[in-house]
Amino acid sequence: MNRRRCLVVIAVVLASVIRFDAQEKGAWFGTPVPPPMSDPRKPVMKYDDVFAPVPVRFAHRPGKFDELLDGAALKKDQRKIVGFSLESLEAGDKLWGRRAATPAFMHTLEWTASELKAAGLKDAKVETYAVPTPMWVPQSWEVQVAGDPAFGPGTETVTLQSAFPQPGGATTSLTAPLIFAGRGTDADLAGRDVKGKIAVIRIRPEPSLFGSAEQGAAARLVERGAAGVINAVEGPGNALYFDSRFACGKAPCFMVGGQDGWFLEQVIGKAANAGMLDRLKATLRLTSEEKTGLTSGNAVATIAGQSAKRIIVNAHADGYFQAGDDNASGLAVLLGLARYLAKQPAPKHTLMFVASGGHHSPGNGPAALVAAHPELKDGTLLVINLEHVAYLDIVRGKTRAVNNTGMTWETSVTESAKAVGVTNESPFLVDLWSYAPRCYDVATYLSAGPGVSGDLGGYRSLGVPMTQMIQSGTFYHSSGDVFEAVPAEGMERAARFHAFLIEQADQAPENLITAGKGTRSQPAPADCSIAFGRK
Ligand SMILES: [Zn+2]
Ligand SMILES: [Zn+2]
Repeated sequence: MNRRRCLVVIAVVLASVIRFDAQEKGAWFGTPVPPPMSDPRKPVMKYDDVFAPVPVRFAHRPGKFDELLDGAALKKDQRKIVGFSLESLEAGDKLWGRRAATPAFMHTLEWTASELKAAGLKDAKVETYAVPTPMWVPQSWEVQVAGDPAFGPGTETVTLQSAFPQPGGATTSLTAPLIFAGRGTDADLAGRDVKGKIAVIRIRPEPSLFGSAEQGAAARLVERGAAGVINAVEGPGNALYFDSRFACGKAPCFMVGGQDGWFLEQVIGKAANAGMLDRLKATLRLTSEEKTGLTSGNAVATIAGQSAKRIIVNAHADGYFQAGDDNASGLAVLLGLARYLAKQPAPKHTLMFVASGGHHSPGNGPAALVAAHPELKDGTLLVINLEHVAYLDIVRGKTRAVNNTGMTWETSVTESAKAVGVTNESPFLVDLWSYAPRCYDVATYLSAGPGVSGDLGGYRSLGVPMTQMIQSGTFYHSSGDVFEAVPAEGMERAARFHAFLIEQADQAPENLITAGKGTRSQPAPADCSIAFGRK
């Protein structure tokens, strides 16, 4: 036998051994097909397990209407707000939730304005604005991995049910081989050719998509010639995700949940080991449209103060899917605060409450508000933003997951730690924030800084101090951000602290709010004696 014939014989024998091996193991090289997507009406995690969230330790002060800030009252509003998202789901919106400029979002604003009016804020109204940019709307889609009997007997085409298209994708249908591209870094791509292929990359929410190092990787892969990208999120269950930072222009880019991602990674590896990677193909289908000429809005109301100078209290009213924490939590706390503060003696400053059109697009609620109210430029003392205020922390557990990546996820009894931001680093404001963990049991980082992500961007042109606490967790911008993900106790902690923050900032000399880093502040008492309502 010559050398060439010998090699051919060896190859044929090897191929039949591998084929036999695949048949031995069953369909998909013995890999269980992934489950359906996690039901977006229900939590992915268990929120009623053995232990309850850390309890609240507040007493009601007689005659002060503290009950308006009780966790149960806040959760009632949060349920109503999440209900507007479910209205969108029932209406058949494919990308559902309280998306700015949609009917469900406008209903949220109208309801918020009517609640503010009922609380005694008589000027409450919805202010609309024209959205300057188009809104991308997906109508239908499908991501399938093609079955091939060579992968084992009974290998049938699998539809990845958690596949969710990312913004910008044009109407398309294509079939191409799959390739795994790690985390999509230059190092991962060294020696790999993604041209004409559908690249799968592993997305690590660290701790959320907001912090993920893989932001922008999908777009870079398309620049290198990939026909499409599947962002496989390392997350619990098989959730839906939507986040523009994982899109790739007009090309079809999808996100899939943890169990679909696990399946893809498994079969790519096993097909490669069997010498059949070139036979492993996926089909991406998408129809989408761009809507123009849209109108969005902000719900606005005030509690008149002794001065017309304003403290703005903002919470964005929009969100994807149920958006239980992002940002039904902040909006419910805003409503509780408005009801509570309307019952208190008139403040020094005018308190302006804004349920905003948000920053997720289309449009920007705070920027539209600032443009419509030139008086805010010189008439605002401080902006306080309520955003993602009380999400229960989800952590890696102690058991290795069998059909997912790494360790299983567990829900903690405590809320996630939040980043405290004070744009001008006013020592007085930073001192006030020290009461959040110390006297109100609010989980924050040990640090505070000038950075403020989220909805405050649209207020930046006012050039006034802005402050918030914010966090984004495992289910940020996903179908796992449900009503149950936010504990009543955490919302109450956030609401009572913010009532304290607003009252203290309102009563303080203005120069303490505007004074920047390094200026002298009144030292805060070491105990919680000026914090109210604490047992
Ligand atoms: Zn968000
Ligand atoms: Zn948000």
